[in-house]
Amino acid sequence: MNCVLFAVFVNLVKTVTPYRIMHIDHHILYTAPGEPCIFRESPNHGGLLEPRLVIMHYTAMKGVEAAVERLTDPKSEVSCHLLIGRGGELIQLLPFNTIAWHAGISTWKGLTSLNSYSIGIELDNAGWLTQNKHRFLSWQELEYPLEEVYHHQTYVPGQPAYWHAYTDIQISRALAVTRVLINQYAIEAILGHEEVAPVRKTDPGPAFPMATFRQLLA
Ligand SMILES: [Zn+2]
Repeated sequence: MNCVLFAVFVNLVKTVTPYRIMHIDHHILYTAPGEPCIFRESPNHGGLLEPRLVIMHYTAMKGVEAAVERLTDPKSEVSCHLLIGRGGELIQLLPFNTIAWHAGISTWKGLTSLNSYSIGIELDNAGWLTQNKHRFLSWQELEYPLEEVYHHQTYVPGQPAYWHAYTDIQISRALAVTRVLINQYAIEAILGHEEVAPVRKTDPGPAFPMATFRQLLA
């Protein structure tokens, strides 16, 4: 192989590698060959799942550890398949072929109780914020700095203008995982919790780049 061809080959490997090494084996996510992501099993689950949908959520909690605690607490009766931290950390709580309890009462195109059809992904994010002079507070009264605030410019009646921003690494990790899920399962749609349970839910909210995720299915 001459030098030019070799350089092209190296660049090609660099381009495709992030998505080649992340993969699913026996419904468990691996970030590299032989390296499963962190697994914190949740007792909150149903029976077997054949995934057709991916549903996105935010945790609206203090941080990733608080979210793991809640999603693995039998008393909470909630769970998800994958939790993505603000540093891009990936924590799997259930195999992708097991029903998780993330969507609750929900509908989409004639389907109801979407837990039976969907993979649930939670992103560590505080959700909507209220502005109090120069301070931005979550529903838990935790304060977030201006650089973590997403200002939604489009006025939507009844919807807050300020939201906790997702981090770039968190979104790029979520995109990589979603791409792997689409390759592995017969995924028909990527949905927000707010779309399938509109009266009850506001996640993942306007700070989440849903259009970019849906392009993965195009
Ligand atoms: Zn949700």
